[in-house]
Order: sequence, then structure tokens, then C-alpha cells
Amino acid sequence: MKKSHLEELSTIFENDGILHQQEDMIAYSYDASHIEKTPEAVVFATSTDQICKLMQFAYREDIPVTPRGQGSGLSGGSVPIEKGIVLVLDRMRKMLDFDPENRLITVEAGMTTSDIDPIVASADLFYPPDPGSVTFSTIGGNIAENAGGLRGLKYGVTKDYVKMLKVVLPKGDIVTIGSKCVKHVAGFNLEPIFVGSEGLLGIITEVTLALLPIPKHRESALVVFNTLNDAAQCVSDIIAYGVTPSTMEFMDKTTINAVQNFKDCNLPRDAEAVLLIETDGEKNSAIGEMKNIKKAAEKNSFRSFSLAGNTKERDLLFEGRRIALNALANVKPNLILEDATVVRSKLPDMVRGICEIATKYNLMVGIFGHAGDGNLHPTFLIDKNDTDEMKRTEKAVKELFRLAIDLEGTISGEHGIGLEKKPFLEDQIGSAGIQLLCDIKRTFDPKNLLNPGKMFDFPNSTSN
Ligand SMILES: Cc1cc2nc3c(=O)[nH]c(=O)nc-3n(C[C@H](O)[C@H](O)[C@H](O)COP(=O)(O)OP(=O)(O)OC[C@H]3O[C@@H](n4cnc5c(N)ncnc54)[C@H](O)[C@@H]3O)c2cc1C
Repeated sequence: MKKSHLEELSTIFENDGILHQQEDMIAYSYDASHIEKTPEAVVFATSTDQICKLMQFAYREDIPVTPRGQGSGLSGGSVPIEKGIVLVLDRMRKMLDFDPENRLITVEAGMTTSDIDPIVASADLFYPPDPGSVTFSTIGGNIAENAGGLRGLKYGVTKDYVKMLKVVLPKGDIVTIGSKCVKHVAGFNLEPIFVGSEGLLGIITEVTLALLPIPKHRESALVVFNTLNDAAQCVSDIIAYGVTPSTMEFMDKTTINAVQNFKDCNLPRDAEAVLLIETDGEKNSAIGEMKNIKKAAEKNSFRSFSLAGNTKERDLLFEGRRIALNALANVKPNLILEDATVVRSKLPDMVRGICEIATKYNLMVGIFGHAGDGNLHPTFLIDKNDTDEMKRTEKAVKELFRLAIDLEGTISGEHGIGLEKKPFLEDQIGSAGIQLLCDIKRTFDPKNLLNPGKMFDFPNSTSN
């Protein structure tokens, strides 16, 4: 990057807001996926105004800008694949307005869900989306990826809670989109286009989120199964019984043992699969729903059904699920984690199919995930240095996506497309779908400077 460019960046971000030494670039060259590329400069924003100036400068000088929250994304979204500037937003952590009367909170995009939780709990409210990365991923990153979580089945995902956004567009214009009102139809419904936009259309700097009252009562159970199929079928049956648990998480034997090796969370090592299920709401209704869940489990030859007796037991169960990914990461040198998703009734087919693919390619796979909403995380445990194993994994991943599409599912339930799934997107949305995405991108970002190279190939790119 030219000296004059660095000087201009220093004027916008001051000295502690910019890095450009080669060794400093390494920390901003990767996220939680496998792809790496070092940027030419990293800037740390503390205000919307700075980001506006940055984008005006980048647009004028044709420099790519890649937004980054905490780099916890699993699809390569914040990797600066065309170099240029990485814009880090995690210093924008102010709570701007807490409005319990309207059940709303407005925060800067760098806050995490864990930062928000205690603020809203003080008024008996909660923000339902709860990705496994609650303690470190930013709200801006969650919106850009439409993050899901353990409560997705009953409470939905990030998109269901975004009321208003302040966004800096690629040329530097600042727009405020949406409304705090329950109803609004002033213009197109633009908020959803930024949810899941993966940093390609604008930079989210402020967000107003909807909140819900904390449920009065919770019942939490661990249901143990002797076969994977019984566990998967039980999920479908619970939904068919008309019960909507707040959480219904799935873990297979490989995942259970990885968790137990990591930390003793009281999970049965010899079980083929477990479901971690929670109901919530009024006491009688939560208890009644759990009784129906037990009936569905009985129909599927469950081995045991144990209710958490107190908060400590419940927290331990949930901790087991939350550390699943970290625990699997300890089994082999590397892992490839997917988030292929199907409708709930197809879950048994999906689980069977994943096992068949792993057997066919002689690969070790751990399966866990948000089974209640059909979002599984088949995780191939591999060694990247083993070329033969890598080749087999690539084939397995391709078949996995094909399977999800054939089962009328989707190649991503919550981790997004980024770089990891870019080659597979056309299989799902077709060439006309890709063309539509390109047209939308061109409208927002005619020079293709904001997070270029992601999701799809943009024709006539002027950046590089
Ligand atoms: C252990 C672990 C558990 C996880 N569990 C879950 C889970 O349960 N559910 C789930 O959905 N995900 C999960 N994830 C994935 C990840 O945490 C989410 O995708 C999260 O939303 C990324 O947030 P981030 O702040 O780290 O964003 P980054 O990884 O930095 O960025 C992600 C994308 O968003 C863009 N972006 C970031 N901030 C902004 C902004 N302010 N404006 C515009 N674009 C922006 C980036 O350019 C990039 O494309 C997990 C990851 C890990 C490592």
C-alpha cells in the first residue's frame, strides 16, 4: 500500500487505530475457516463517521475493504482475499439505548450477545439468538451471517430480531434502515437484505434489536439413544406431536466422547446419540410439553431420559453442547465443519446419508447440531497434511452438499457462503440466482470494493 494511503488512513484512524507492519497482518489473515490471506493494512473503527471517511477514501482510491467482527466466522467471510484493508469493528462496543418499555436495545455493532445479556436481564428481558460463539462473536458479524443458535427452533434466528440498522454503504453514504415501530412500510423492506449479506453490501455500525420477556420456567432433559436413527426419528416425532421445544440439540458418539475427553459433562460415553431438550414458558405448559417429548422418546426406543434437577445440572448439560466444536477440534489436527440443513422430517435421511458418506471415504466424522431446526454440523476430523485424506474429504463435502440439496435442504443454515461454499452456491440457487445476487451487489457496490471475491464471482471487477 502506498505511503500516501497509509498517511490518509492514519489521519482517519489516528495512531492506535491502524496497523500495517507485515507481522501484524498475520493475525487478520484468517478466521475460523481454513483460508488465509494477509491484508495490506488493518484499521480499528470507533465511530460510524470514521467508517464513512474510510469508504469515501477506499472508493476514490479503488482499495478493497473487508469488514471484520471477531473473525469467528466459519466460511472465510472476513478473510481479505483480494488484500487491501481489513476494517475491524470490535472496538465499537457502546450500548446506545436500552428501551425496556418497547422491548428494544440499540447497540454498536462490535458488542457481543454476552455483553447484551446482563443489560436486558435487569429488566427481565432476553435477546433470543444465541450462537455457540455468544461470548466472542459480534452482533454485526451475527447479522452479516444471520447467525443461529441453540434456541433457533422456538425463537428463530438473528433475522427475526433486527428492527433497525445504521449502515455505511460502499461509497461512504450513511443510511438508517428499518424502524423501532412494530409496524412500518415506509419504502422497501430493506433490513433483511443486510441480514446474511456477509459484508458485501454495507458496513453495519449500529443495530436496534427486539427483545422478549424471559420465560418463567424451564425444563431440561438429556435423552439417551442406542442408535443414531432413533435419535433423529425422535426429533421428527417431537415436532409432529405439536411440541416446540426451545432447544433440541443432537450429539453423536464421536462428539460425546470428544466432549467427555475435554471436560466431564456427565454425558454417557457408550451412547450412540443424545438429545439435549429444553421446554420453556409457563410452568404447567413447559412441564406438559416435556411429558409429550418423553412419549415421543418412548416411541423411539430411548435408553434413558433424565431431567436436570437444578440449574447447576442444566448448565453442565448445556456446557457439554457449547464446547462440542472445541472438543472435536482436539481429536485430530484439523477439522472441516459444515452446516448443511434440511427440513426436520428429513433429519433421519440426512444423518444416515452423512454416515454413509463418511464410511465411503473412510473419514472420521462427528455429528452434532441444532437438530430441532434441521441444522446439523457434520464435522470431518482430519489432518490437512495428509494429502490423500484431504482429497477424500473434498469429495465427501461435495457429496454432503449434494445430499442436502437433494433432500430439499440448504448448503448453509447459519455459517454463510463466504469462500468455503462459494463453489456450491450455484447448485442451490441456479445461474439466474447468481446473476440476481451480482445485480444487487452492483447496485450497492459498483466497483466491487467491499469484501470482494466472496460468495460469487463478480464480473468486470475493477478491484485488485
Ligand atoms: C466455537 C464457535 C462456535 C460457533 N457457533 C455458532 C453458532 O452456534 N451459530 C452460528 O450461527 N455461528 C456460529 N459460529 C460462527 C461465527 O461465530 C458466526 O458466524 C458469527 O456470526 C461471526 O461473527 P464475527 O463477529 O466473528 O464475524 P466475522 O467472522 O469477523 O465476520 C463474519 C462475516 O461478517 C462480515 N461482517 C462482520 N462484521 C460486520 C459488520 N459490522 N458489518 C458488515 N459485515 C460484517 C465479515 O465481512 C464476514 O463476511 C461459531 C464459531 C465458532 C468459532
